[in-house]
Amino acid sequence: MKLETDLSKIKHLARVRTDENLDFRAYLKELPFSSRKIDKVVQETRIEISAGIDCTHCANCCREMQPVLMPADIRRLARKTRLPLKAFTTRYLKNAPTGHSGMVFKRRPCPFLLDNRCSVYEARPRDCKSYPHLHRRDFVQRTLQAIGNYACCPIVFNTYESLKTRLARRIRPQRS
Ligand code: SF4
Ligand code: SF4
Repeated sequence: MKLETDLSKIKHLARVRTDENLDFRAYLKELPFSSRKIDKVVQETRIEISAGIDCTHCANCCREMQPVLMPADIRRLARKTRLPLKAFTTRYLKNAPTGHSGMVFKRRPCPFLLDNRCSVYEARPRDCKSYPHLHRRDFVQRTLQAIGNYACCPIVFNTYESLKTRLARRIRPQRS
């Protein structure tokens, strides 16, 4: 399978395939397979796709997403940047949107993205380490999260597209 890594094309296709992606989500929920079996296909697909995509070349999540920082992340980053906790928080962070716990960076792209690389890699937030979260269990319950990341992350885009084929989709065609 040819991998798509052109971010503007991925964004365009995310708009075009909005309904298709939601239909595939509904289809997944109806499949007569255990969540474990679906997770196995998702993991095989994710690993295969990830091997073909260079995150250090992409870094789009660090430009577009807003990772959530919990207290342990903030303490670790404050230590890494050699700033007192309060000074670090004031300089870089604001509260996460209402209804969410934790804090987020004040600006996007992330202030620690330098030359397309994470300058605090060893101390990066747990949310960054986990992104794009496809390794987590029970994919069928997480499809909205995957659809939310589909327009931003080539790994998610290509994994979701590949799953449509691998899991024998019967979805509304909207290709252009
Ligand atoms: S996780 Fe996705 S968005 Fe982030 S750098 Fe890798 S491919 Fe790009
Ligand atoms: S802390 Fe590092 S990995 Fe996380 S968004 Fe910023 S640059 Fe990216």
